[in-house]
Amino acid sequence: MERITHYIDGKPTPGESGLRGPVYDPATGRQSAEVDFATAGEVAKAIEAARAALPAWRATSLARRVEILFRIRQVLDAHRHDIAELITAQHGKVLSDAMGEVARGLENVEFACGIPQHLKGGFSEQASTGIDVYSIRQPLGVVAGITPFNFPVMVPMWMFSNAIACGNTFVLKPSEKDPSASMLLADLMSEAGLPPGVFNVVHGDGVAVNAILAHPAVQAVSFVGSTPVAKAIYETATRAGKRVQALAGAKNHMVVLPDADIEMAADAAVSAAYGSAGERCMAISVVVAVGSVGDRLVAAIADRLPKIRIGDGRDPASEMGPLITAEHRDRVASYIDSGRVQGATVVVDGREAPRSRESGFFLGASLLDRVTPEMDCYRDEIFGPVLTVVRTETYEDAVRLVEENPWGNGAAIFTRDGGVARRFQFEVEAGMVGINVPIPVPVGYYSFGGWKNSLFGDAHMYGPDGVSFYTRQKVVTSRWPDPSTSAVDLGFPSMR
Ligand code: NAD
Repeated sequence: MERITHYIDGKPTPGESGLRGPVYDPATGRQSAEVDFATAGEVAKAIEAARAALPAWRATSLARRVEILFRIRQVLDAHRHDIAELITAQHGKVLSDAMGEVARGLENVEFACGIPQHLKGGFSEQASTGIDVYSIRQPLGVVAGITPFNFPVMVPMWMFSNAIACGNTFVLKPSEKDPSASMLLADLMSEAGLPPGVFNVVHGDGVAVNAILAHPAVQAVSFVGSTPVAKAIYETATRAGKRVQALAGAKNHMVVLPDADIEMAADAAVSAAYGSAGERCMAISVVVAVGSVGDRLVAAIADRLPKIRIGDGRDPASEMGPLITAEHRDRVASYIDSGRVQGATVVVDGREAPRSRESGFFLGASLLDRVTPEMDCYRDEIFGPVLTVVRTETYEDAVRLVEENPWGNGAAIFTRDGGVARRFQFEVEAGMVGINVPIPVPVGYYSFGGWKNSLFGDAHMYGPDGVSFYTRQKVVTSRWPDPSTSAVDLGFPSMR
């Protein structure tokens, strides 16, 4: 049985606690590896390695840091396929989707390659006579990232690219469900010349996470995961005086107006709801069919579902892979029954898809129509291939539905009317908006983040917000000796 160790101070480091967790191949349902779980003491060793690496790394010139980042980009690019294969083997998503994940993650390294530009401060010459004022941004120190199973490469890259580019050192606690990709990233970054200790990986569960949150040397915590855990981590870590950004769960609505191109809307809904088996925080989980569009849209979506090719992500013919675990598959499937019992129409039951009856954690695409906001399938984040359709009379009802939902990650509108689209952009309560685009994940030079229960903290992730999250600002007021202007003055400094 393969054993996955920690990665501390530039090398794989076996855990000594004897605590381990299983890692599965979701396509076969068989255990493929076991991963070491860190104790608080082992987490402290990783943090110590990051602390020891900090002075030299933060003093490394921007020119040299950028050189290393470019090399990281080059080495990761050369190994795109290897990284994607590891994602598929442990997460289950199809290889083409895993390649897409790597590409979107690399955007963040590319953004970080321009870090000298992003770290530039302001400069005011002669703010007062003989006095200049300027601002600089400095790293925080040791920072940590705690990441979810659904993007085992992209989400860590959202965090560490800017963090290390800004001169911090990093400790990553990836999901224990698909931990190997982070080990490959660590290895490849060492190969690219990143000094030991700048990027460390510890595996584990809540014990490892709590040890990170409690450690006084950790200055900032970036978290991505489910809402209850995000909220708890935000509260604990802010109480401990750390800077925190905690990105959380979602329920993303796609509003379809009667003037929309129905075929295009149906293609978009199916792609965004069932891609990666619905295990994306930006997946469309609710289609809001406005006015007369309902019957035509539901029929167009239902028509597409039997054609989705479900199978092992390593098979190039597969379009949708399995779910992450058997428990998660069963939990997702339970919403089909609860929806029916609570009054929804089950248009397509994914449990009847052929692959759902075989080994592996497969579940076919399901479609529930005439869902209402009180139903569990609407209230909970399902995080699987179950798309719900809520019908509303008017555009205003649709926008109110999004507003009243406790989450606010993404929201999309499908229409041909530019005026309504612009109104939607103005008033919808969500952090990321798509106009005829179902999954509006911002490109790497913007920042990613939701509203309401989809984000705890102020800073969005990656892009410009990432740079400001991982740095502190200093403003310098400077005068060079000129004896002719020197005098004792007990008044409050004012500009002259
Ligand atoms: P999760 O919350 O179960 O786990 C996330 C991380 O927290 C993992 O590293 C896990 O080991 C750790 N963790 C889990 N329980 C913990 C506990 N009790 N105490 C401390 N740490 C704990 O999330 P997941 O199932 O891995 O990922 C899916 C969730 O992530 C979904 O809710 C999805 O919406 C969300 N997500 C959000 C975004 C976003 O950007 N908003 C992106 C991706 C995923």
